[in-house]
Amino acid sequence: MTLNPQTALIERINQALPQTQCTQCGFSGCKPYASAIVENNEPINQCPPGGAQGIATLAQLTGRAVVPLNPDYGQELPLAVALIVEADCIGCTKCIQACPVDAIVGANKLMHTVLADLCTGCGLCVPPCPVDCIEMPAAVRAPWSNLDAQRAKIAFEQRNARLAQEAASHATSSASSVSTSEVTDDTSSKQSLVLAALERARARRKPSE
Ligand code: SF4
Ligand code: SF4
Ligand code: SF4
Repeated sequence: MTLNPQTALIERINQALPQTQCTQCGFSGCKPYASAIVENNEPINQCPPGGAQGIATLAQLTGRAVVPLNPDYGQELPLAVALIVEADCIGCTKCIQACPVDAIVGANKLMHTVLADLCTGCGLCVPPCPVDCIEMPAAVRAPWSNLDAQRAKIAFEQRNARLAQEAASHATSSASSVSTSEVTDDTSSKQSLVLAALERARARRKPSE
């Protein structure tokens, strides 16, 4: 399918954005910001995670002039990754609800853990935590790459699709619209993620035990 030029440009701009989904640009994610740049002439200097390099790319894509990052939207900082102080976690699940890319695993009243490889460093899980047990230390991992951005984009889209499906399900009260195999696959993949995360958490604790 051929996209019209405006839609194609939005898609190219979205692909060029870092996909942390942090909302610092003033929009609910990278795609809405990309749309606003094209449709509403929104300035191209409102994405702190993209920084100067990101602005240069947006300038090239849009034919606009390169301008400095607008400090009203934040600063270009090194990548941080969320870390849950597990001993203090009360398992309220509020952080899971806030995470735009499903990088937190855990269950109600059970310890929660961040999957560091999936975390975009957006910080959106920090304010909702009622016991202040989420820290954002500098990442001990490779800098954010295009591959990380593409993975985060897919995770964000999958999460939005799931939330939309759940909302539609509730609205129609027809849980049968979701096939048993989809539910089983989803549950089984979540269980694997939880088990892997708990295994990593146990491994991290070992030296001090
Ligand atoms: S990375 Fe954050 S600031 Fe940049 S476009 Fe995406 S949501 Fe907006
Ligand atoms: S774990 Fe926290 S900082 Fe990391 S992506 Fe999720 S909400 Fe953002
Ligand atoms: S919001 Fe805080 S207390 Fe609640 S599950 Fe997440 S880390 Fe634990």
